[in-house]
Amino acid sequence: MITEDKKEEIREAADLVEVVGDYVRLKRTGHNFVGLCPFHDEKTPSFNVTPRMGIYKCFGCGVSGDVFSFVMEMEGVGFQEALRTLAERYGISLPEQFSSDDDEKHKEREGIYHALRFAGLYFFRQLKESDEAKKAREYLDGRGYDGSILKKFGLGYGSAQGDALLREAKKEGIEEEYLLKADLIKPSQRNDGFYDTFRDRLIFPIFNPSGKVIAFAGRIMGDKKGAKYINSAQTPVYNKSEVLYGINFAKNEIRKDEEVILVEGYTDVITMMQNGIHNVVASSGTALTPQQVKILKRYGKKIVMIYDSDSAGRMAMKRGMNIALSGGMDVDLLELPEDEDPDSFVRKYKKDSFLELKQKEAVDFVSFSIRQAVKHGEMEGPGDRTRVISRVLESIAEIPDPLARQVYVQHLHQKSQKYRNSSDRELFDQLANIIREKQKGRGFGKPPSAGPPHPVGTPGQPPAAQKPHLDSGPLRRQKTPKKPHYEM
Ligand SMILES: [Zn+2]
Repeated sequence: MITEDKKEEIREAADLVEVVGDYVRLKRTGHNFVGLCPFHDEKTPSFNVTPRMGIYKCFGCGVSGDVFSFVMEMEGVGFQEALRTLAERYGISLPEQFSSDDDEKHKEREGIYHALRFAGLYFFRQLKESDEAKKAREYLDGRGYDGSILKKFGLGYGSAQGDALLREAKKEGIEEEYLLKADLIKPSQRNDGFYDTFRDRLIFPIFNPSGKVIAFAGRIMGDKKGAKYINSAQTPVYNKSEVLYGINFAKNEIRKDEEVILVEGYTDVITMMQNGIHNVVASSGTALTPQQVKILKRYGKKIVMIYDSDSAGRMAMKRGMNIALSGGMDVDLLELPEDEDPDSFVRKYKKDSFLELKQKEAVDFVSFSIRQAVKHGEMEGPGDRTRVISRVLESIAEIPDPLARQVYVQHLHQKSQKYRNSSDRELFDQLANIIREKQKGRGFGKPPSAGPPHPVGTPGQPPAAQKPHLDSGPLRRQKTPKKPHYEM
């Protein structure tokens, strides 16, 4: 069992504002901090954090507690796991074995986390030491990844032997049940045994915002057959649509810059961070989801999407852009020179050139859409032109804040004026139609995807600043904070 002293030592070390700040955008008011309550839905902040006393309290719904109860609530774990999470984050050592008297569900999560952590360390050792991993090491060498970056991201290698991880884990006393639940092994088709999920692949551990390993991605090596990447399946601790690769390293930088750069791949994130660009995450294989936007919005206001000009990439980006807009984020787009992705560009030209390019070329989504349309000759014929304008208005219609919509419509009017020759009134009318259609489409009783129905902005009012972006995290259980470091 854990002693009362140990508990107080952890409480002492933990920074409540930092821990809460991973879920709630907090604003200082005197000695306290306030934000939108993560435990109930509200529009004006009534969730108070008093660091001096180490407590939080919501004057809306009445919840209150300390740093331990906050982690328990938000991460959906028991007291023991909350203690462990905070102890790890703030570098407090815990007794080797401390028993958990939590209920079954918490025990299951802890078992899965333990199995994942073991696997992460095992893969990491394999990458460093095993002969089989030579290809993988050469591949990483070729990208210029050194020891410290491999360690930071905990990169690893899964052996080609069918059950190497399983055998090692068993030696350590890890039960098959948890390996299965963590999707580290799968039942064999041929016999009643199991085989490793990640075989002969370069391994990227996936972390939650607190830095815990929650899943893995495996990249095929050489010209083997098979999918280029495989991912852990959905597990009790891993929900793909809520995960952003790199968030554990990026979150503080995003907070500081109030801006996040969204890229596609694991290596994009690693290369950019290696080169000193830290406010970057990847949506890792999925198009951006509303849940991911919700998480990003806890840390920053603006998302910079790197434009992918192939047609599949363009479609995914448009969807992602609208999802980010409907989540209330500002969206800029940045197009890289032809045939470059963030990984290759930053490796070649380094940080300063990237930042310079971003400074010069990243523009808001309205300017970007018009610019692209002009580039592709879509502003010449009246039919094309109408389609482009409608498309942009559809994106504007996603924005929940009516004042922001109004500003963007005026911006669109300005950007497209020389192709249209009419007033902004017509754009506002069209926007109103789109919003009406959208509301109809949603049907009665269905919750809108982006908050309450959108009233239409009225032209003529001065463009107002956007409302302060206090924002709460989702109500559902989520990951928690910890030191941004994968310990080996
Ligand atoms: Zn509340």
